[in-house]
Amino acid sequence: MPNPTRPRLLTGDTPTSTGLHLGHYVGSLENRLHFQDHYDCYFLIANVHAFTTLAERPADIRANTLGIIKDWLAVGLDPERSTFVLQSEVPAIAELTFFFAMLIPFNKVMRNPTLKTEIDTKGLGDSYPFGFPMYAVGQCADILAFRPELVPVGEDQEAHIEMCRDVAGKFNQLYCGVNNRTPPDEHTAHGGLFPIPKAKIGRVARLPGLDGVNKMSKSLGNAIFLTDDTKTVQKKLNKITVQPDATTNLVPQSHVLLQYCDAFLPEERAKEIRATYAAGTDVMHGHIKAELGNALNNLLEPMRQRRAKLEGPTGDATATAVIRQGLTKANALAEQTLDLAKQKLGTHFGPRNLTFP
Ligand code: ATP
Ligand code: MG
Repeated sequence: MPNPTRPRLLTGDTPTSTGLHLGHYVGSLENRLHFQDHYDCYFLIANVHAFTTLAERPADIRANTLGIIKDWLAVGLDPERSTFVLQSEVPAIAELTFFFAMLIPFNKVMRNPTLKTEIDTKGLGDSYPFGFPMYAVGQCADILAFRPELVPVGEDQEAHIEMCRDVAGKFNQLYCGVNNRTPPDEHTAHGGLFPIPKAKIGRVARLPGLDGVNKMSKSLGNAIFLTDDTKTVQKKLNKITVQPDATTNLVPQSHVLLQYCDAFLPEERAKEIRATYAAGTDVMHGHIKAELGNALNNLLEPMRQRRAKLEGPTGDATATAVIRQGLTKANALAEQTLDLAKQKLGTHFGPRNLTFP
């Protein structure tokens, strides 16, 4: 059973692809697995935010949503211990978004470095919809609706969490009488509604993609997915180009292959490989890739086996049941947050009783 006496944690994924990748694993999923037994955990699927780039493909968003839930189950996230939340089914999130949008200057949203990078790398040019930058504000509501203390994320999300901290602080000051010199950790003790949440960055803050340039990303075609089979994993690794630097004639220590060694091989072995490359010794890149492939396949195999059991209509039914299972608890908390927020905002004219099955 989820444990409501523990401090709360919220994090999540956007269903922009059918499944999750290794960047998710080292950047956030590992932390989620660890924190499941220490926090009252909420894991959110941001399916509304998937419409920012996939509005013309709603059926894909639905399939991706089920796919990501299945990946969560395959990795070991447990709906008996944690609460799975489907964003579109929690109306309080959308309502809070509107109020929070008043607390963030428009230009500040547009300067958000994570948004800028996404516009760049996803090739959105200047034709992205109004809703695209809006998602950064919506994400503040995703988080604050659950008033968590901790948000485990990859490094790319730090700017969003910073914005969320700003919004929470501003709300507490404007509407709850918290002094602007009150330290973030003391806001709730001084009457603030929202704890100022902290980001918890994963073991690997930013896993690069197979292109060696961008972060590994669902939307950029540079990912090894948790569902990739043994051969596909090895094929993808084999395609990584390893070129020595033109001036030093050495493979740079920042090379993606070496970053993967750090992330997925035992520490001592990764150091050894780095030292070999630093010394300019003739290295068989193919051998290193094979070693990495083995390590990755050993890591992924138990997940693949659990995931295989969730294929097809029965798996879809399981994922749907898991989504429904979380809704009552998620909505109870989000509705309570909204109710308290409306009291502070002066928009409260009595309780409302939405019922969620
Ligand atoms: P998209 O390309 O659609 O933005 P994504 O691959 O970035 O997808 P998200 O759903 O946006 O995935 O991110 C979910 C979580 O995983 C976030 O906490 C994010 O910081 C983390 N994450 C995503 N990619 C990486 C990565 N390459 N390294 C570390 N953490 C990551
Ligand atoms: Mg992303």
